[in-house]
Amino acid sequence: MRRLIFHVDVNSAFLSWEASSRVSRGMDDLRLVPSAIGGEKDKRTGVILAKSIPAKKYGVTTGESVASALRKCPELLIVPPDFVLYQKCSRDFMEICRIYAPVVEKFSIDECFMDMSGTSRLYPDFLSVAFEVKDRIKRELGFTVNIGISDKRLLAKMASDFEKPDKVHTLFSDETEKKLWPLPVDSLFSVGKSTAEKLRRACIFTIGDIARTDTRLLQTIVGVKAGQQLHDFACGIDTSEVSGTRDEAKGYSVSTTLEKDVTEYREAYRVLLALTDSVASRMRADGMNAGCVSVTFRSGDFKDRSHQKRLYDATDITSEIYETVKQLFNELWDSGTPIRLLGVSLTNLSRNAGEQISFFHDEKRERAIKTDRAVDELRGRFGSDAIVRASFYQAPIHVGKKYKASLDEAVSSQHGSDDADPKAKGVQEITEGLPENGKKSIQL
Ligand SMILES: [Mg+2]
Repeated sequence: MRRLIFHVDVNSAFLSWEASSRVSRGMDDLRLVPSAIGGEKDKRTGVILAKSIPAKKYGVTTGESVASALRKCPELLIVPPDFVLYQKCSRDFMEICRIYAPVVEKFSIDECFMDMSGTSRLYPDFLSVAFEVKDRIKRELGFTVNIGISDKRLLAKMASDFEKPDKVHTLFSDETEKKLWPLPVDSLFSVGKSTAEKLRRACIFTIGDIARTDTRLLQTIVGVKAGQQLHDFACGIDTSEVSGTRDEAKGYSVSTTLEKDVTEYREAYRVLLALTDSVASRMRADGMNAGCVSVTFRSGDFKDRSHQKRLYDATDITSEIYETVKQLFNELWDSGTPIRLLGVSLTNLSRNAGEQISFFHDEKRERAIKTDRAVDELRGRFGSDAIVRASFYQAPIHVGKKYKASLDEAVSSQHGSDDADPKAKGVQEITEGLPENGKKSIQL
């Protein structure tokens, strides 16, 4: 049986989603004017996340700083991101895909694979189904997608990247020579800027050039593993399946670029606690424990350093993880280098085996577990801001935005959005954290 795979990719997702939501509320269509989704322009962390086609004509690119985009196009309309909306739009269009495909794999917030293999009786003409899916999403949800069709997952993904927006393209194995090979190397999946540069220096300009180059030569240019992979991809070799269930997470991580370089322990600890708080609560929501904690920092000159520690006992307790995070950070940082970015990740996961039986009465630990449970529950009921650590209360730190958004959305769908204002319920405060601020008690 010939495999048949659709890759559905939302066109400039964040911008389209914001635009369609505005249009449905009777506002102007952002897609018709130079506009972009981006961070706050006064902060250097503000980058362009998505742009409209008119903005693209001014040379505005995804990933560039908001300041630089405004220099290119002073009238650029910049809208801040809204992850709650994105999660909802993402679920909505994948719901439509699920009506047609027996197996749908979410690949990212704005992309999914539909495995249409074996549906030829149901849908004798696969092209017309693709158009139906595309047009139905546009009609019912108000935004456009591209659909790439192939017998290979990789090629379907590459096909959806052909001409945009609102298009259906095929790229079957027997079409690679005609449709894929003339393209420049950087349009091959997995080829980033630096790989493309290395290839061009070796006079390899198109995907066809990669396919015709001896694998061993490619390996000397980009490394053994990447060289083999590039050659396979260029030849359309890909045996991966569309999987309906997502692989269980291998780890949880979160990082944040700081608004200004941090040079003091106290400030670094505050950020590390916020990161630990976010990543640990995400892990607990999946019922996992971490056996390894790592901390990363990027210095002002863009050098990344990280340090990790395996735990003797896997844990999901925020305060225990934070102790390790602090210890790792103290070992890693020379207390002088300006810090530009901090990150925390949790790996070596094991499934939480339910209630842990403690042979020794450990009051501190039990209290910490209870605190985490109470925090998670309050956040689950009233939203991520319902409970704030005292050390962030004066100057809130926003990390893990996507997770916060999904939590807040879950809350607003339970309560109706008017009801979800945490302040209305009385903001609770935990004073738990830093020895530096002298507060040690836990109040709930
Ligand atoms: Mg997209």
